Amino acid sequence: MTKTRGYAAQSATSPLTPFDFERREPGPHDVQIEILYCGICHTDLHQARNHWGGSMYPMVPGHEIVGRVTRVGAKVTKFKVDDFAGVGCMVDSCRRCPACEEGLEQYCAEGPTWSYNSKERGTGEMTFGGYSEHIVTEERFVVKIPGSLDMKAVAPLLCAGITTYSPLRHWEVEEGQRVGIIGLGGLGHMGVKIAKAFGAEVVMITTSPAKGQDAIRLGADEVLISKDAAAMAKQASSFNFLLDTIPNPHDVNPYLTLLKRDATMVLVGALTALEPPLIGANLIASRKTLAGSVIGGIPETQEMIDFCAAHDIVSDVEVIPMHAINEAYERLLKNDVRYRFVIDMASLK
Ligand code: NAP
Ligand code: ZN
Ligand code: ZN
Repeated sequence: MTKTRGYAAQSATSPLTPFDFERREPGPHDVQIEILYCGICHTDLHQARNHWGGSMYPMVPGHEIVGRVTRVGAKVTKFKVDDFAGVGCMVDSCRRCPACEEGLEQYCAEGPTWSYNSKERGTGEMTFGGYSEHIVTEERFVVKIPGSLDMKAVAPLLCAGITTYSPLRHWEVEEGQRVGIIGLGGLGHMGVKIAKAFGAEVVMITTSPAKGQDAIRLGADEVLISKDAAAMAKQASSFNFLLDTIPNPHDVNPYLTLLKRDATMVLVGALTALEPPLIGANLIASRKTLAGSVIGGIPETQEMIDFCAAHDIVSDVEVIPMHAINEAYERLLKNDVRYRFVIDMASLK
């Protein structure tokens, strides 16, 4: 066992504080990684504060993990010591169901094992995430990170990157399409960059006029302020695809009116009941689709990393020391992040 220092939430209301625990010795298929950086996803906050129910404590959050390989098991073939490696939201799955066989482990029929707030298959031990010094993960759930990339800015690709890349690919967003990304936060800013790289005409749909210039700098062609009813009405029936990253229950109806006939809006943020309710006519009248999507499978995560490396895409990050985590959560709640917090794990030493 390897002693590991991390930061944990002890309850839904307590701040995160230092927490020492042990990681397993690497097994034959395991990779041990010294964590260099870990991004802070809004999901970490939802989970630490039990917004979705089912949170287990102590909880060490963190699923946007990049680091350097320090040990490899005897049967590991993809990695050697000193390689850069990434771990995202999943560390295991059943590997037998149709979803797993297709490399869509996020839709595993038995449910994947999440990087934290989950129980290991077999041992039933709690999983602990990336707000820590090391992680030991089976190589099937580890992706390769090209050493040429800026590691701190790569970390958010492991969740924010794949969660936006996967639906843009699945719904075949392509050159010439008009695509709206709703919410300019961690996911939204990656969505803008990736949709632009797919050749789409990208509109940033935001509640924050002050973020407009940033949206253009990030690659958006246009900015639409969702609170401006007249501006929204002007853009009715003009979008081929919308990606909605809003983290809370919200009114989806005004966004649905933006879609063309037969077009799709994909929710990735709002897990709980929509409020106010969805009005059926907003789908029925023009054969529209409201869909959802969870991260992406491991093969697609590697594809996304390679795509981002080829297109020079990384995240815009604000690096913080580990002890500033509670302040970062407060700022996340106030939409005060440009556009992803990343923890420098050297600050744990
Ligand atoms: P984030 O950085 O906090 O960004 C969310 C953005 O949404 C905010 O910056 C804000 O953008 C907008 N927003 C916030 N509250 C709003 C409201 N009440 N109404 C309208 N807009 C609002 O969060 P994130 O890390 O990108 O995560 C977004 C959501 O996706 C979270 O719920 C997270 O749990 C979820 N998530 C899902 C998956 C998945 O696999 N499906 C993966 C990762 C994360 P503006 O200021 O531009 O309006
Ligand atoms: Zn996440
Ligand atoms: Zn499975």
